[in-house]
Amino acid sequence: MIKTQLARRMDGVAPSATLALAEKAKQLQAQGLDVVSLTAGEPDRAPAEPIIEALCAAAKAGQTRYTAVSGIEPLREAIAADLLRRDGLSYATGQVVVSTGAKQAIFNALQALVDPGDEVVFAAPYWLSYRDMALLAGGVPVVIETAFDDGFVLRPDALDRSLGPKSKVLILNSPSNPTGGAYRRADFEAIAEVLRRHPGVFVVADEIYRRFIYEAGAGEGLLGVAPDLQDRTLVIDGCSKTYAMTGLRIGWAAGPKPVIAAVAMLQGQSTSNPCSTSQHAALAALTGDQSWVDEMVATFDRRRQKVLELLSSIPGLRTFAPLGAFYVFPDVSGLVGRKTPSGQVISDGTSFASYLLESHQLTVVPGAPFGAANHIRLSYATGEATIEKGLERLAAAVTALS
Ligand code: PMP
Ligand code: GLU
Repeated sequence: MIKTQLARRMDGVAPSATLALAEKAKQLQAQGLDVVSLTAGEPDRAPAEPIIEALCAAAKAGQTRYTAVSGIEPLREAIAADLLRRDGLSYATGQVVVSTGAKQAIFNALQALVDPGDEVVFAAPYWLSYRDMALLAGGVPVVIETAFDDGFVLRPDALDRSLGPKSKVLILNSPSNPTGGAYRRADFEAIAEVLRRHPGVFVVADEIYRRFIYEAGAGEGLLGVAPDLQDRTLVIDGCSKTYAMTGLRIGWAAGPKPVIAAVAMLQGQSTSNPCSTSQHAALAALTGDQSWVDEMVATFDRRRQKVLELLSSIPGLRTFAPLGAFYVFPDVSGLVGRKTPSGQVISDGTSFASYLLESHQLTVVPGAPFGAANHIRLSYATGEATIEKGLERLAAAVTALS
């Protein structure tokens, strides 16, 4: 058999562990196994009825053809209005591009901005795709560690030390997947101060979890605090989380015109417009009643408190109380060196996650792909019964260790 040589750009790129594990849990459940999954980073509900109605109405009205590559004008207007409400900043529709999910928006942004050898800087623990997207753009990922005691927020001195002449892009994710850490006004002020000393650095502000905030003062955005950085910041958001529309694939980027034009050009030569009917659903989501979102966030807050309460009674785990998003990211270092009933030694989050699945039918995402090997990630964007069952299994698994 002839072995096809893949392009070198695929070297070092890993599959998305979050998507792979969520899929694996679904496959096991489809085989009839009683697997509890706390993997998926997606709300456990259907979008609000008016969103679904808009989706169906768009299909019936024949909105099934190509649209403008950057997305339909009314949707870009609605996104600009949302940004104005949020941070008080104006965007023309030519400064907004709608993509097939926030993932594509970030991917295209890095393709448009990063030359081979340029550094793409981000904080660890990080959303795993940043690293692989940076590599696919020919960039060099530069990871800055953050600490539990700092709320997993970048320290300005650490950022200052890490930025240099090769630094091209800084990705800031607040609230963060996987830690739930979020920047407060003072944190962003300090980061902005550093950025002003490094004028060549472009910022990608991933705000996909910005509506999932549980603590007062944790819902800030960089540009609300430092509007002078608007001409070198791309704000990323989308409908996946806020409107429970993960499968409908609508995300966007807003920022300086030349960068948005480059992202749109990339789209025009790769995927063309994002799904036409999904764009109409997104328009209904952004312009419709938002109380549905507030209710979802309140529900997630109750789940967060439940998860934290249940985790606090399990010895050996150390868990940061998230300020936003919908994940907890326990540190399992306290279990390292312990033995499973079958004699395997827990060496890190990966071996612990494998043990949880094999012996207790619980899927979680190991911390390694997020740049934090001694952690595991649990999503609480799922029903309370599942959370309770999952945490019971986690407790039983820890108790069974010797
Ligand atoms: N950024 C972060 C931090 C995420 O967790 C995700 C995963 N949903 C995305 C971006 C991409 O989201 P989507 O492509 O579904 O809009
Ligand atoms: N972002 C979500 C997660 O971290 C969805 C999966 C993905 O896109 O990586 O679980």
